[in-house]
Amino acid sequence: SEKKLYSPKVIKEIIDEYGFAFSKSLGQNFLIDKNIIDKICDGAEIKESDQIIEIGPGIGTLTQELCKRARKVVAIEIDKNLYPILNNNLSSYDNFYLVEGDVLKIDLNALISDYFDDDGEIKVVANLPYYITTPIIMKLLEEKIRISKIVVMVQKEVALRMTAKPGSKDYGALSIAVRYYSNPRIIVNVPKNVFMPRPNVDSSVIMLDIYEKPIVEVKDEKLLFKIIKAAFSKRRKTLVNALSLGALGIAKEDIISILNECNIDVKTRAENLSLDEFAKITNTILSK
Ligand code: SAM
Repeated sequence: SEKKLYSPKVIKEIIDEYGFAFSKSLGQNFLIDKNIIDKICDGAEIKESDQIIEIGPGIGTLTQELCKRARKVVAIEIDKNLYPILNNNLSSYDNFYLVEGDVLKIDLNALISDYFDDDGEIKVVANLPYYITTPIIMKLLEEKIRISKIVVMVQKEVALRMTAKPGSKDYGALSIAVRYYSNPRIIVNVPKNVFMPRPNVDSSVIMLDIYEKPIVEVKDEKLLFKIIKAAFSKRRKTLVNALSLGALGIAKEDIISILNECNIDVKTRAENLSLDEFAKITNTILSK
């Protein structure tokens, strides 16, 4: 019968057999709770026709369930010490493919065309390594790869920033970037005791429903993100000061007239501005 890879006893046996040691610097906190694994897979609404990219399969605990539910699972893992363990633990699944490497360096568009068929949805499902949560999510969003959903375990604090609304303390550049590409929501909050070893932080499973095209229209995406960055780099200053002091090179009087034209209060701060308003500022600057 199949190994229960979420069982701490089984994990300990595997560790002993292979002489494996957890790497803290690779963010290795393995899931030991079947209920959470099911919540991740249910949250991702995995269908038999889905093709899945998993980032960081570890010993294959989540992978096993993904292989049962989906058409194909391509898992990207950086730790060489896990390759023999993964290949052994998932040997009974002919829809499992291991990609050896660093997710941040892999060309995901090439991976998709190499491994996946053109029909059906592609979803990213993972318990992410927390030291690179934001770079991974930004890569998935910015490279505009053909994925319909991202369902991932992240630090709770990052989940709150990704889903924050204007005016709240967690709202920032990350909230706006995520909202530009997707509709985010928290599926479930997760305590520390469902991992081995236990992480220092609480976690949440988050779902990003990716838009087919960004929700607002801007004529220059790079400028939009430059403005957002400049606005939040001086969070405590008014928007006028943050934008005129920043790297944008626009004079204070001009910023004031642009904000007036957009019907935005010149005394407001970045944390109160919606994505729509940042898009309006961008398009107004471009029309000058
Ligand atoms: N999915 C497994 C689970 O839930 O039990 C393991 C999750 S663990 C939080 C994160 C995994 O990501 C580890 O297996 C780690 O080795 C892997 N990892 C870390 N950095 C990576 C990178 N840059 N590219 C690919 N995988 C990485």
